[in-house]
Amino acid sequence: MQTSIENQKQLQIIMNTVLDGLIIIDSRGKIMSFNHSAEGIFGYKKSEVIGKNVKMLMPDPYKEEHDSYLHNFLSTGEKKVIGIGREVKAQRKDGSVFPMELGINEMSFDGQRMFVGTIRDISERKEAEILIEQSIYDLKRSNQDLDEFAYIASHDLKEPIRGLTNNASFLKEDYEDQLDSYGKERLERMIFLCNRMENLVDSLLYFSRLGRQDLAIQETNLTDLIEDIKLMSSDFLEESNAKINIINQLPALVCDSLRIKEVLRNLIINAIKYNDKDQKIIEIGCHHDGVESVFFVKDNGIGIEEEFYNDIFRIFKRLNQEDDKSRGTGVGLTFVKKIIERHNGRVWLESEPHKGTTFYFTIHSAANEEAA
Ligand code: ADP
Repeated sequence: MQTSIENQKQLQIIMNTVLDGLIIIDSRGKIMSFNHSAEGIFGYKKSEVIGKNVKMLMPDPYKEEHDSYLHNFLSTGEKKVIGIGREVKAQRKDGSVFPMELGINEMSFDGQRMFVGTIRDISERKEAEILIEQSIYDLKRSNQDLDEFAYIASHDLKEPIRGLTNNASFLKEDYEDQLDSYGKERLERMIFLCNRMENLVDSLLYFSRLGRQDLAIQETNLTDLIEDIKLMSSDFLEESNAKINIINQLPALVCDSLRIKEVLRNLIINAIKYNDKDQKIIEIGCHHDGVESVFFVKDNGIGIEEEFYNDIFRIFKRLNQEDDKSRGTGVGLTFVKKIIERHNGRVWLESEPHKGTTFYFTIHSAANEEAA
């Protein structure tokens, strides 16, 4: 038979091997055991705390509440921490207060009711969390500032550009007869560039609006959206000899339908535009990568060199120089990225030059997470 002293010695040896802080208190809150890790965390030697009330390790106002909490638990069994665990504040010997993760379990030792507290100092984790939260806040703030700037700049630019376009058109209407062919050509070019500038400014305005406006979230059937796009673009699809295949069942999504339709439309139109094959094939589908649903739009087009994977999402960035008339504005993928990011998702691509490109995207909203 082991004596109580031997029992306690054995218990202390075991406790000292544990990396977390371990404190045992009796039913009145008196500290009975304090392991090496707890000494490191609180800065007290075991001899300084044994026999004292555990309140000495707590800052105000928790210190004051502890007695009544313990008393309440013993008389009613109502648990706030015991058997549950939570984040609480603790106080070191030097008076500094720090966050810790505390788990408490009840046990019986030598016929006495006791509580074992497991303690983990989470100061570093908390600091890192605060830093991350601050960075996210700063990033959101600077994105908002950029949207605001884009809105103000493009809004103010609109008026003089409209004026230029109108004046160029009036000049053409009233004085075209008096110009030689070179003059007419210059004037045409001027009108064309004015219109182009108006388009760019409108795109910038729309881009800023995408960042500023609330999403109209609703239950959405992606297959219906794709069928709609097919219907609206049927002439273009036919002229281009393009086929769109939905290769597996797409899950129902909770998202801003109009915006996500815009994402799909941009990706589909690009898959056809940047495609030199006689038969243009677009495959749309979805797979679950174990964490989330990943949607994709795959084409058999001209492909994209890896060095441009990031560039193509930049506003007004275009890789292919066609003649002015068929020139896009280089905003489609910028809108796609913005819309997906507004849905807390990601967009990325894989591509093989001359063989084709696959754009992938994810969409997150609380409702989708619940459904997954
Ligand atoms: P736009 O089509 O108006 O140029 P986007 O932002 O939609 O603007 O696309 C940016 C550029 O990315 C395009 O100019 C093109 O060079 C390239 N690109 C986009 N989608 C594809 C694709 N599916 N295959 C090959 N290149 C693409």
